Amino acid sequence: MSKEMPYRVLLFYKYVQIEDYEEFAAKHLAFCKELGVKGRILVAEEGINGTLSGTVEQTEKYIEELTSDPRFSDIDFKIDEAEEHAFKKLFVRPRNEVVTLRLEDDVNPNEITGKRLEPEEWKEWLQREDVIILDARNDYEYDLGHFRGAIRPDIKTFKELPDWVRENLADQKEKTIMTYCTGGIRCEKFSGFLVKEGFKDVAQLHGGIVKYGKDEEAKGELWDGQCYVFDERIAVPINRKEHVVVGKDYFTGEPCERYVNCANPECNEQILASEENEHKYLRSCSHECRVHPRNRYVKEHNLSEEEVQNRLAQLEKEEAVN
Ligand SMILES: [Zn+2]
Repeated sequence: MSKEMPYRVLLFYKYVQIEDYEEFAAKHLAFCKELGVKGRILVAEEGINGTLSGTVEQTEKYIEELTSDPRFSDIDFKIDEAEEHAFKKLFVRPRNEVVTLRLEDDVNPNEITGKRLEPEEWKEWLQREDVIILDARNDYEYDLGHFRGAIRPDIKTFKELPDWVRENLADQKEKTIMTYCTGGIRCEKFSGFLVKEGFKDVAQLHGGIVKYGKDEEAKGELWDGQCYVFDERIAVPINRKEHVVVGKDYFTGEPCERYVNCANPECNEQILASEENEHKYLRSCSHECRVHPRNRYVKEHNLSEEEVQNRLAQLEKEEAVN
């Protein structure tokens, strides 16, 4: 490896019973604050789900501390190098679930889950003709990058996925279904749901996309685009052999991997947009968002009412031509 970077980003989870999870979360927050790491850790009775950033030394201490607890002694950490913190704040919160799926009949992945495939085996299965590859993430995550040939559920949040499956894949239960997510935690539960729904052969990518990208054999092959991550980096590379851009500019459809949030604070929709189009369209997904009285782009750039009107007129003119 070339020169070592000063920071690290950790991604980890474990489904394990934490009886005193509220008390654990409070103590863990104090420990993380003292240590100086930043990020987001959810603690529930069913386990822990975390991603955080810190210096190499801080993250090493964090790993040491967490794995000294017998409940987490075998937890798997995915580690990325970074130039700086990937988070601005620190949250450690008690929750009902470590991922919000809200099934009417909850799944314990330690009792029921899909077959866990390691990266190399996953790559072989991806090339089979007789399988369904189902992305278990949200639509905006898929749009930035996904496994070649994967199905895109049009969902905005994870808890919409079970209904989507019932509506769209109910007649596919005899087929082999392969499902994946960023770090593997969503699929542990979701693949268990698929098994319970009656799907005959369910497989999941163990360790998720992030581990697949780091694997020395798989090298991230058959992944197109980038992987969406829930921190300041937004996108990380996965495929180390080739880079195919699949993201499309929201306004022009041109290849694009740059996410921005709609400047209307009440919309905040994530859209892919080039820098040029961000300015041209006032970083807003629609006319309604552009004229919103609290438009953040207008504020940030100190645009006068007249300037905004001029830009809107220009856009209207172009639309009339096209
Ligand atoms: Zn909008």
